[in-house]
Amino acid sequence: MTSESRKNIRNFVIIAHIDSGKSTLADRFLEVTHTVEARDMRPQYLDRLPLERERGITIKMAPVRMIYTTQINADSDADQRGLLYEGVTYKIRGALFDVYNTLGPGFKESIYQKSLEAELAKRNLSFEREKILDVTYDGKKVGVYRPDFVVEEKIVLEIKALPFLGQLEKKQTWNYLRGSKYRLAFLVNFGGKEIEINRIVYDEIRDNPRFDPRESAQVEYVLNLIDTPGHSDFSYEVSRALVAVEGAILLVDATKGIQAQTLSNLRSARKAGLTIIGAINKVDLNLPHLEKMIASVAALLEVKEEEIFRISAKTGRDVKEILEEVIRIVPLPRILADSSRIKADYISDNPPRALIFDSLYDDHKGIIAFVRIFDGGFKTGDEVRLVASGTQFKIKELGYFSPDLKPSAAIYTGEIGYIATGLKEPALVKIGDTVLRIENLKLSSRGGSSSGGKTENFSNFALQGYREAAPVVFISLYPDGATKFDDLFKAIGRLQLNDAALSFEPDANDALGRGLKVGFLGQLHFEITASRLTREFNLEFITSFPSIAYRVSARGGSASGGKETTYIIKQPQDFPDDPERVWQPMIKLEILTPQQYLGQVMNLKNVFDLEIGDILTIGENLIISGRMPLAELIRDFDDQLKSSSAGFASFSYELDGEAEAEAEKLEILIADEVMPELTRIVPKKDVEREARSTAERLKELLPKQQFTQAIQARCRGRIIARETVPAMKKLLGNFGKTGGDRTRKMKLWKKQQRGKEKLKEMGKIKLSPEIFRNILKK
Ligand code: GDP
Ligand code: MG
Repeated sequence: MTSESRKNIRNFVIIAHIDSGKSTLADRFLEVTHTVEARDMRPQYLDRLPLERERGITIKMAPVRMIYTTQINADSDADQRGLLYEGVTYKIRGALFDVYNTLGPGFKESIYQKSLEAELAKRNLSFEREKILDVTYDGKKVGVYRPDFVVEEKIVLEIKALPFLGQLEKKQTWNYLRGSKYRLAFLVNFGGKEIEINRIVYDEIRDNPRFDPRESAQVEYVLNLIDTPGHSDFSYEVSRALVAVEGAILLVDATKGIQAQTLSNLRSARKAGLTIIGAINKVDLNLPHLEKMIASVAALLEVKEEEIFRISAKTGRDVKEILEEVIRIVPLPRILADSSRIKADYISDNPPRALIFDSLYDDHKGIIAFVRIFDGGFKTGDEVRLVASGTQFKIKELGYFSPDLKPSAAIYTGEIGYIATGLKEPALVKIGDTVLRIENLKLSSRGGSSSGGKTENFSNFALQGYREAAPVVFISLYPDGATKFDDLFKAIGRLQLNDAALSFEPDANDALGRGLKVGFLGQLHFEITASRLTREFNLEFITSFPSIAYRVSARGGSASGGKETTYIIKQPQDFPDDPERVWQPMIKLEILTPQQYLGQVMNLKNVFDLEIGDILTIGENLIISGRMPLAELIRDFDDQLKSSSAGFASFSYELDGEAEAEAEKLEILIADEVMPELTRIVPKKDVEREARSTAERLKELLPKQQFTQAIQARCRGRIIARETVPAMKKLLGNFGKTGGDRTRKMKLWKKQQRGKEKLKEMGKIKLSPEIFRNILKK
């Protein structure tokens, strides 16, 4: 396909709680569109990372472009999508924005009318003012109507200057339209904080049953799909995908019903203004409560029950139907003329612009930016600039996702594709930045010189980017074995290109040397990242305990003159022994559970520092809101919630300020040496218990040596728990028999020294994410 208009493009995502069958549904789409041939098909095709396949979960969003040929002619619904009189519409919107941007709110209607006349004329649009139109009833003239403008003898334009428009004004315009020969009206209000433009369509096709839109010829559609992860640790991936599309299929698993991520995904999709199609998946399992579930999903989406699809991603039931619904109801790709952010600061035509929503490092092509094009098109060799970073380069290669990178001569408005930058330095390309074609770009005198020297001249072109992801847990990584600090640094930088939720800063430690303090969105995010570093980059490293950021006030030493200062501590080792006051981050939780597990779920209060708020009923489920310290979350909350509800309860959360806490630093010593990576912060009331359980668990987890070694837990300089790792029996027995002259003793001593070093090594290497998780369990 070439540069044809946007009308045959649809961009959409599949969103759902984990395991609802998103990736499996994507498989069926790949099949019915022949994007992947049957013989190459494998389950969850879009889960392309080895780690995703091994764990059976999606970690990365995955875009794919599919071509679908069908007889549906969405043109019959064109008026719903902005197709009707597209060219004229485009110019009218430009005129309206210019008037509003120049005048703003606060004038009389007539001022806006006169200014608009000038803008329409500038654009060579013909128009009539206050033309007299007949209003008919039952074929007879019953009155007249004088719209403010009729543009190009096609479009009615009604201008208002009210604080806001109500239903009445809209209904009125529609009524006039209905009684006239015109089909399209714009009802515009200049009186509000932002310009409001309502497109009002009177559709006679719908009144004429003899016309069947399906009788038309075959039409080719470009369907850009983004499969998304379902686990809450990867919600940042989902949020970025939402900005690149106009529609979402929201799947609900028939075996589970509405779950926590169903709600949080739905909220985000609504916020992003997406058109949502609801579907229950796995109906092949013939579950008894399907009808009830459909009723509650329909209620949630505020649609009729018939509008909820009943599909099976496994058998393919109604998969084609839902894809055709995407074509019918998902709006055309947004373009910039649709946005009130358009600025009059440049005098060239709208320069091509695209938003970077993901990226990837490729050894040959450099950094590859995944883009959604919002305006114009790009081709190989185009000179472009990244608006925020100021990086400039010539496009080496571009193309679409098939889902492999498939080069193309150009990529066009409204589509999703990739741009190979040839750049190697991760800092040069940031997710959320805008790619702007700068060839032939003439900046107006207001914007600065056309030589384009100053960065601020370009900032007007920035598309809405993303809010940065807020890290939840911090874990330090220190190089180990053959790995050097620089290797680690480089690897994290490259991984960050593909995982925008990662953040990191340098860190150093007496015992462990130079490392990186990395921020993650949760425990799973950390485990996945650790595995990716090992597998994709072949690195060896030691990790510290997962910790969160505490704010502490303490009386400083002589340097600060004994004054009290507050600071943020992201690493337990830095926590003062005697803090004045401590504040910890809190989270707001939303737990969704079937009613019968309410009792067990509420019992979590006895284990976790959880405060329960409102409980609401939605269908068969309860939504329990609550608040708890973020620190509790990394202590296996997820598993315990699952086991309290036979796997049915789920939760989502967001950061919710901070609260004062009573906390202490707990240190662990092995062979009389502090192991900084085992230091953590625990609630004061739990110190003794945590000290004992940590020492006991470490005793089980640490490998035995040829000699006995002490594990000690220390708080405020005092040893509060102690365990001994017994020596390996057989070897100790040998030493016992051989008795003890001096040389033998020397030999033994030397062996122990070597052993101690060995133990430290072992201790470090064996401190895997699983061990940390084990120790953290309540
Ligand atoms: P995702 O996490 O939402 O991407 O879910 P997946 O596509 O990875 O599927 C999760 C599990 O549900 C897999 O074991 C699938 O085989 C299974 N599954 C997906 N769709 C269906 C379906 O329609 N019927 C049945 N019976 N199982 C399904
Ligand atoms: Mg998946």
